[in-house]
Amino acid sequence: MHTAPTTSATPFWTVGGITVHRVDEIALPPATGPWLLPDATSEVVNGQDWLHPHFADEDGILRIDSHSFAFVVDGLRVLVDTGIGNGKERANPAWHDLRTDFLERLTVAGFPPDSVDLVVLTHLHADHIGWNTRRVNGAWAPTFPNARYVTARAEREFWATYDMEEARAQMFRDSVIPVEEAGLLHTVDVPAEGVEIAPGVRLIPTPGHTPGHVAVELTSEGHTALISGDCVHHPVQLTHPAIGACVDIDPQRSEATRRTLLASLADTDTLLLGTHFAAPTAGHVITHGAAYRLDPVPAS
Ligand SMILES: [Zn+2]
Repeated sequence: MHTAPTTSATPFWTVGGITVHRVDEIALPPATGPWLLPDATSEVVNGQDWLHPHFADEDGILRIDSHSFAFVVDGLRVLVDTGIGNGKERANPAWHDLRTDFLERLTVAGFPPDSVDLVVLTHLHADHIGWNTRRVNGAWAPTFPNARYVTARAEREFWATYDMEEARAQMFRDSVIPVEEAGLLHTVDVPAEGVEIAPGVRLIPTPGHTPGHVAVELTSEGHTALISGDCVHHPVQLTHPAIGACVDIDPQRSEATRRTLLASLADTDTLLLGTHFAAPTAGHVITHGAAYRLDPVPAS
């Protein structure tokens, strides 16, 4: 099935000499917010005018998207997270058997699958690894056959000993194992200070949502951006850092990580790029009351 992209222009931001493209997969359905962030009630959301209209609707329902970020550094073509994927058998109906035009959008952005050199996986959850593979002749094959797929060693090792329910085991079988069997999955040690995996690209340990979760920091010509992964799912968590996700492996550690991260970003020039933030997706973290809010920076 082929669906033409609905827009020919791929949104992007400029970080020094790096152009960061947002490659859209889908907007998740309204039921996602109350499930994922149950403490972000409509009362809480509607108490923050700045969340409207971009990040929540008039009923206080959160807008949550699935997208990837793609950029070129030092000649390396990099993709951060690979969304939900097409044709995957998933327990979550919003993720089950999708037929999106993600790969066409990625190609339009200038990143045909064969051209991708590096795939960074912030963590190994179903909505971040789906396009790792696609179905070829009835089997799941790496979508990016010329890429090095990178995730934190702590992340892979955690799931290796985790007592998985069938749905999660299925996800590993169709989206992780085929990449490992092709010799394309590389795990890296991520020390407390982070680790550079390409010029100007650092993995920052942000544990809690999962044990080996990383955020991705980009630095170029004195400018910095940070791709959140899932240590922050939605901008409402800037004002309410205690709000966690129902799927956080370690909720206390997740909150502590979020508070530390937000404090480090607050009132700086670092551009926060939200992995699940609805458009405008990016912005600066600024002090707001006892916590923070996002000062949006729309894409070009
Ligand atoms: Zn996610």
